[in-house]
Amino acid sequence: MERYAINKFKRICVFCGSNPGYRSIYSEAAVELGNELVERKIELVYGGGSFGLMGLISQKVYDGGCHVIGVIPKALVSLEISGQSVGEVRIVEDMHERKALMAKEADAFIALPGGYGTMEELLEMITWSQLGIHKKPVGLLNVDGYYNNLLALFDNGVQEGFINRGARHIVLSAPTAKELLIIMEQFAPLHDHVAPLESWKMEQLANNYPSEESSK
Ligand code: AMP
Repeated sequence: MERYAINKFKRICVFCGSNPGYRSIYSEAAVELGNELVERKIELVYGGGSFGLMGLISQKVYDGGCHVIGVIPKALVSLEISGQSVGEVRIVEDMHERKALMAKEADAFIALPGGYGTMEELLEMITWSQLGIHKKPVGLLNVDGYYNNLLALFDNGVQEGFINRGARHIVLSAPTAKELLIIMEQFAPLHDHVAPLESWKMEQLANNYPSEESSK
């Protein structure tokens, strides 16, 4: 087994589809990312539940013996909506508190392929980095070019003067989990932040949510 000199991340937040996608490469990528986290002994924060790629990666990390935290808004907590979570479940009031808590608990963010929910979470963490709310790496796992069009849109944003060239570097991307984790470990935020970290209240937003252990 490969050994890593530095374990830069203690816990990574993964955003991903609540659907598995039509092609098996997406499920395989979720499992592969789960394996990479386990191999590096990195804990997982995710949106809770057992559906789609969310269920696959959380089960993999949990089975591999690493801690898993699922952060679920009250409205999505029923088994019909989200399914059974593994590991620790934290129930929050709403989607805003969920993102604040996920952002607080993780040292880095990765988006696997997913739909609107995944893209919204990803975009918010990119925006928070740009604003200076956090300085954590944000990685896109660009499985079989799934996010090529989104990356091209970001490049167009730079080209057309809506995204600062420095801020374009916030988004890291790679086709495999192994490659992505390597570039995320090397990430140093170079862009100018819009406002200093101290001017944001994320810590207060994400305080003291109830936690409960769920069974498998
Ligand atoms: P989507 O990419 O639209 O499938 O949405 C997935 C993202 O939105 C995840 O990272 C979750 O945080 C959240 N989400 C969407 N649907 C659910 C669900 N049924 N249970 C829990 N979280 C969900």
